[in-house]
Amino acid sequence: MTGPKPLSNILEITPYKGGQKLDHGWKLSSNENPLGCSPAAREALARAAEHLELYPDGSALKLREAIGKKYGLDPDRIVCGAGSDEIFQLLGRAYLQPGDEIIQSAHGFLVYRLVAQQSGAACISAPEKDLTADVDAMLERVTDKTKIVFLANPNNPTGSYIPYEEVKRLHKGLREDILLVLDGAYAEYVRANDYAAGMEMAGEEPNVLVTRTFSKIHGLAGLRLGWAYGPESVIDAVHRVRGPFNVTSVAQAAGIAALSDDAFVTRSVEHNNDELERLKSALETMGFKVYPSVGNFLLIEFEDRDGKRAEDADGFLRSRGIVIRDMKAYGLANYLRLSIGTSEANDDVLEAFSTFSKAG
Ligand SMILES: *Cc1c(COP(=O)(O)O)cnc(C)c1O
Repeated sequence: MTGPKPLSNILEITPYKGGQKLDHGWKLSSNENPLGCSPAAREALARAAEHLELYPDGSALKLREAIGKKYGLDPDRIVCGAGSDEIFQLLGRAYLQPGDEIIQSAHGFLVYRLVAQQSGAACISAPEKDLTADVDAMLERVTDKTKIVFLANPNNPTGSYIPYEEVKRLHKGLREDILLVLDGAYAEYVRANDYAAGMEMAGEEPNVLVTRTFSKIHGLAGLRLGWAYGPESVIDAVHRVRGPFNVTSVAQAAGIAALSDDAFVTRSVEHNNDELERLKSALETMGFKVYPSVGNFLLIEFEDRDGKRAEDADGFLRSRGIVIRDMKAYGLANYLRLSIGTSEANDDVLEAFSTFSKAG
């Protein structure tokens, strides 16, 4: 029996593996919001769940209007997706074919590569400087075949970002027929003065798209909700290739409520930024190499000696009920990524790291 054979480029894909969890203990492997989600979002979801027999509004108009109002954007230039992941996939469907190329920075978000592979396009990775996107290196890799440049800013898993001036320089160096996707999954956490998510560029330029998500700051990862803002032609293309009802009714309702709960967002940012600083300095005091991060996670590099490597730390933390993310899939074999948890979880993390640092 042979059966149907998938396309050869599909068989080259290594399926994405999400962060693992244990039956008990702390899951700090997927950059989820440790404070949960807005109570208003949960209530709106429960109300919407009274009518699960109804199809959702396919174009998510009310949600787009709520996003537009919140950010001062034209709702006609917004498209919603089942997570920003779906939007990336849809961009691949609309813009990539075999032989095309996308560009990302070396430790860019893994999903960009999958998007290229599903279309038979090549994913070209530009080397980074100090685990930070290097605009010149990205521009040097542009060819006639380049169709999309993906930049997560801030980037996951490195936690680094590039200033808005650098993003503008990247855009200026690209042909107008190359789409620049600015993935702002962690934009809400950034407090740096020289940072911007790029809404203004996406409003003015014909080839800049900004993507955002409800998965991180709004704590709605389980609902799958994201959106993109950009030029009419790009938004139109995404609408053409999306499923007719790609965002569920309950997700739309919860998203609208989440946008109105500024108190939850503020609390989430403050908790994250305070705890991130606390974890970073405590880990550094213990002698760990921790990279600067403006996201809701920290990237930690380990010593290259027996008993002290990333996999040793990973196993030790697991034995104490703490799961963080190994970075092998990113080519960062001796690193681990730690999501910021509740204060209680972070206390346990610090105690575990302290014991690990003293062992052997
Ligand atoms: C978490 C994350 C996203 C969000 O993905 P969703 O599909 O919206 O949950 C997007 N980009 C990056 C870099 C991320 O880390």
